[in-house]
Amino acid sequence: MRRPLIMGNWKMNGSSMANESLLTGLISQVSSLQGVDIAVCPPAVYLGQVLELVSGTSIDVGAQNLSEQKSGAFTGEISGDMLRDLGVTYTLVGHSERRSLYGETNELVAAKTLKALEVGLVPVLCVGETLEERKSSQMDAVLAGQINAVIELCGADTFGQIIVAYEPVWAIGTGETATPQQAQDAHAFIRGLIAAQSPAIAERVTILYGGSMNEKNAAELLAMADVDGGLVGGASLKADSFATICKAAAE
Ligand code: PEP
Repeated sequence: MRRPLIMGNWKMNGSSMANESLLTGLISQVSSLQGVDIAVCPPAVYLGQVLELVSGTSIDVGAQNLSEQKSGAFTGEISGDMLRDLGVTYTLVGHSERRSLYGETNELVAAKTLKALEVGLVPVLCVGETLEERKSSQMDAVLAGQINAVIELCGADTFGQIIVAYEPVWAIGTGETATPQQAQDAHAFIRGLIAAQSPAIAERVTILYGGSMNEKNAAELLAMADVDGGLVGGASLKADSFATICKAAAE
């Protein structure tokens, strides 16, 4: 009932030439897949190029970040309206690298989520705990803080338009993946947080797993009841690996 989504986060990687070769390889392998949504999130400077390259295919495009402001004197920032103007569909919000390296708080991430919703972008709200937080049994409180900040600002019903990505920080870019059961438990917990406010919306919300998902472990993660897709970093930079993950999620 929830349609799987596989989303590639290219982070600060790519070049005009590399993007073209990656997408050419990807399009040829995924264009006939049914029952899966596919998107890529290139660096902002390449959004226009990537939108052109995927035009006429079933691949959608997302941004990696947006400003919580509408417009004005915010040097270096990119607004949601600009992303919509280009034709972007999704935007990541609160990726753990933005939280840990650029000081994005739960409140700022909630404000960005609201801005994305206001302009008609689909926010992909990234949440997840660090290893220390997991080891000290703070995981539930951390996830609740991250999700509830958005519920408080935007309302629980907006999760009908929000995608959540559970990304344990200790699994991002480390090669260490959550076990399928660890992912399932966290996803069920997140769904439960939304269900506490709005049970019907909670059933509908797509929850992606992210953290060293690759062509070898994708199928068993995607087989879990509450894992509705993947947010893929490193493996999304290789057409074959990303296509294999997309195939694992397809009908
Ligand atoms: C990510 O950047 O969201 C991510 C999950 O990265 P990786 O797949 O490389 O762990």
